[in-house]
Amino acid sequence: MNLILFGPPGVGKGTQGSRLSTEFNVAHLAMGDILRAAVRDATAAGLQARQYMDAGQLVPDAVVVAMIEERILAGNGQDFLLDGFPRNVAQAEALDAMLAKNGLSIGRIVFMDAPEESLLKRLCGRLICRACGFGFHRQYSPPLKAGCCDRCGGELYQRDDDREDVIANRLEVYNEQTAPLLEFYQHRNGFLKIDAGGEMEAVYAALKEAVSN
Ligand code: AMP
Repeated sequence: MNLILFGPPGVGKGTQGSRLSTEFNVAHLAMGDILRAAVRDATAAGLQARQYMDAGQLVPDAVVVAMIEERILAGNGQDFLLDGFPRNVAQAEALDAMLAKNGLSIGRIVFMDAPEESLLKRLCGRLICRACGFGFHRQYSPPLKAGCCDRCGGELYQRDDDREDVIANRLEVYNEQTAPLLEFYQHRNGFLKIDAGGEMEAVYAALKEAVSN
C-alpha cells in the first residue's frame, strides 16, 4: 500500500515516516532529504533548489514533481511512503495525474496535526546525523554523547533552515500553501487525521493503527 504523510514542519513526518517505512517495508521518499542530497551533490536540480530551501520557501513545483516521479518509478513497483510531498494543491494534482498515468494509487493519506507552539520547540532544538539522517532533540531526545549519533557515531548538526528566522517563514509557507491540502484530501478514501502533538511512542502507535486498519 502506498501512503502519504503530511502536516506542518516539525510535526515528526521524517522520524515517524522512517520508522513506519522500515516496519512496513515500504520505500521512504522524503522530499526534503532528496532535495538536501541534490544540494550536497550539486546536481542541476540541487543548484536550483538551494536558494529556496535556505529561505524556507517551496522549491518550484516542476523541479520537485520531476524528482519525486523519478524516485517513484525507480522503485519498480515497491510500495512507497511520501513524506513532504505534495506540499501544495498543484503538486497534489500533478501527483494524481502521474499515479493515474502509471496505474498506481494511494491507500492511506495521513494528516499529522500538532499545535504551532510544540512545532517551534521541536524545530528549534532539532539535531540531525550527517551520516545516517537520524534525528535527535537537544532537550526531548538528546544523544548519549553530545554531537555524536547514538546509532552510527556520525556528526550531529543543526539544519540551516532550523534557525528561528527561517522557521517562521516555513510555518507561514505551510499555513498559506500546504494547509489547503487538508481540504483537497479530507474526503478521499483512506484519509485519516492523527494527533501528533504528544510523545513520540504515542504518535507512532496512532500512526501504525491508522495505517494498519
Ligand atoms: P523538509 O525536510 O521536509 O522540512 O523540507 C525542507 C525544505 O525543502 C523545505 O522548506 C522546502 O524548501 C523544500 N521542500 C521539501 N519538500 C518540498 C516540496 N514538496 N515542494 C517544494 N519544496 C519542498
